[in-house]
Amino acid sequence: MRRLRRCKIIATLGPASTNPAILAGLFRAGADVFRINMSHASHDSMRDQVAMIRALEKDCGRPIGILLDLQGPKLRIGTFENRAVKLAKGATFTFDSSPAPGDATRVQLPHPEILQALEPGHTILVDDGKMRLRVVSATDTQAVAIAEVGGEISNRKGVSLPDTEIPVSSITDKDRADLEAGLEAGVDWVAVSFVQRPEDVVEVKKLTRGRALVMSKLEKPQAISRLEEIVEVSDGLMVARGDLGVEMPLEKVPGLQKRINRTSRRHGKPVVVATQMLESMISSPVPTRAEVSDVATAVFEGADAVMLSAESAAGQYPVEAVATMNKVAEEVERDGYYRSIINAQRAPLEATNKDAVAVAVAARNFAETLDLKAIVAWTSSGSTAFRIARERPEAPILALTPNRETAGRLALAWGVHAVVTKDAHDVDDMSKRACKFAAREGFAETGERVIIVAGVPFGTPGTTNMIRIGLIEPQPS
Ligand code: PEP
Repeated sequence: MRRLRRCKIIATLGPASTNPAILAGLFRAGADVFRINMSHASHDSMRDQVAMIRALEKDCGRPIGILLDLQGPKLRIGTFENRAVKLAKGATFTFDSSPAPGDATRVQLPHPEILQALEPGHTILVDDGKMRLRVVSATDTQAVAIAEVGGEISNRKGVSLPDTEIPVSSITDKDRADLEAGLEAGVDWVAVSFVQRPEDVVEVKKLTRGRALVMSKLEKPQAISRLEEIVEVSDGLMVARGDLGVEMPLEKVPGLQKRINRTSRRHGKPVVVATQMLESMISSPVPTRAEVSDVATAVFEGADAVMLSAESAAGQYPVEAVATMNKVAEEVERDGYYRSIINAQRAPLEATNKDAVAVAVAARNFAETLDLKAIVAWTSSGSTAFRIARERPEAPILALTPNRETAGRLALAWGVHAVVTKDAHDVDDMSKRACKFAAREGFAETGERVIIVAGVPFGTPGTTNMIRIGLIEPQPS
């Protein structure tokens, strides 16, 4: 079973999609990766979802990626005597450390390190940015603010601080426990929420110890100002437009999407465009024209994946939402402008790992010049296939790997179709089986040729050093 598009689809699971029949429907409609959002899932429900996905993987004989999304430090205010209060524009309101129930003048902000970090002039956003206050004076235990945009403020509403660097790691105790449970269950990718500094990502990578790849969710202005360093230490990036659009002016988000996309692609790191892509499909079987255009833009930008959140997790039309993304991506990739746009975005070569980069570029050039039908990459860690994906070649990429984990990780990579098979034992075997899989998976027919990329000695990660043209011989039936 082969997808007819390069851009991958991530579907978030939730009450609307967590049963084997719907899961299979989502996969058939085009979902390549399932996201489990630990803001909502318990360890038990996460384990059930992983087991269900692995059973589906076995049934359909194709690798499926699982992305565990850690909640991160979601900041919330305390509670009020009477559940909520209304603040008029210009009202003075205090956030403090006292656990006493709040009233029209104050409420607890139960995060001492945040109170210590707030300074006059900083913005406090409440309830996804619906209310905006500006700090006028601050001590270690309280911040007095003026409401610039008023409204109702109620129990345990979320708080965002776009100007304040939060002096704690973006990994909470809950995240650590969720991460360990997810790794034990066998997820392929882990997403870190509210990354501010490269150190946040490095901390998760240390905990992960190579058991999954680590994706940074870019949703804070502090992360944008250190984008290059964060991309360098991450295995993948997500343009988390929901919180990004709360913490930064909405009109800046499209430009940031382009910047994150280009930076990630230059580094050869998969990049996901997320949030509100087909929002109206939560309750409607058809999307708006603007939503279709938004998905199309991400595909034209060469994003590795587009993501559904509530549409597939809690909406009324989860399968239709995936099918819509699939249709849009296929159509965009057939469009006459697509290839020239993708080629125009090609980034110059990186200075690191020159052998692998040179082989990936050569493979793309061979395939384009000689009209070869596929680039077949033998890859044990997946890095060879990620490198080739970075080149955004016109020829499809077939990754052959002895590791199921690698195939699951590659489910997120642009244009990569992964197959698990035992490692090649010599150059002849490598060539013969590459051609056999190219034919079997529908990439090439008898008499056509493919380009084969591998690392010798076989099974040694990080040695992409061989390139060969293979001719598809008649395959035994
Ligand atoms: C986002 O903010 O866009 C996002 C993907 O994160 P979450 O769904 O966890 O809010």
